[in-house]
Amino acid sequence: MIIAIDGPAGSGKSTTAKAVAARLGITYLDTGAMYRVITLKSLRTGVAACDEPALAELTANTIISFTGVLPDTKVWMDGEDVTDAIRGSEVTKYVSDYCAPSVVRDALVEQQRRIAQGNSVVCEGRDIGTVVFPDADLKFFMTASVEERARRRQKDFEKLGVSKTVEELVKEISLRDHKDSTRANSPLRKAQDAVEIDTTSLDLEMQVKFIIERALPLLKQ
Ligand code: C5P
Repeated sequence: MIIAIDGPAGSGKSTTAKAVAARLGITYLDTGAMYRVITLKSLRTGVAACDEPALAELTANTIISFTGVLPDTKVWMDGEDVTDAIRGSEVTKYVSDYCAPSVVRDALVEQQRRIAQGNSVVCEGRDIGTVVFPDADLKFFMTASVEERARRRQKDFEKLGVSKTVEELVKEISLRDHKDSTRANSPLRKAQDAVEIDTTSLDLEMQVKFIIERALPLLKQ
């Protein structure tokens, strides 16, 4: 069974997807983490987002892996634990540029499909219901007001010891949303058959319950 969860930054996708996967005992696939790994390595090695041949080579030569059991999962880049490094503000600022070229997307989408093959998966991202798994059993599109999303991101950054104002984050998030939803390849958009969940005033438990109630009958089949 594939559960696709898409939506903009800070909409609650990750927390919800992780909780749903943990409760159903199925795989959680964070596709944003994969684009973040490519961005981190590009920034470290000085590869520009517009240098497609270099980006294609870098993507082909990067081993991205996930280990651990929720909530203690780790993200690895060529054997290095980059779980925290990929959440840094530089990576967050540039990830929408590095994830846009088709040379990156095509390679990572292929890996995402391979990871899901033969598994039950909760997969979250921007193009999961539209491009990666158009035949997913369940599709959700999570949204929330940009102010609420900025407040959530502020808390995430606080945990990393980074202090940012809500105003600053509204600007950053709006720019990232704009780049993600206007790119040529696989823009962020709701799949026609996705159920929209506005999380502005929902708590985590309500979001999780909403999805689990729809997933359980399918798992029992
Ligand atoms: O979900 P997260 O905020 O970690 O994603 C980081 C970035 O990766 C997004 O802003 C978007 O640019 C990109 N992304 C994407 N397609 C996905 C997942 C993430 O383009 N399926």
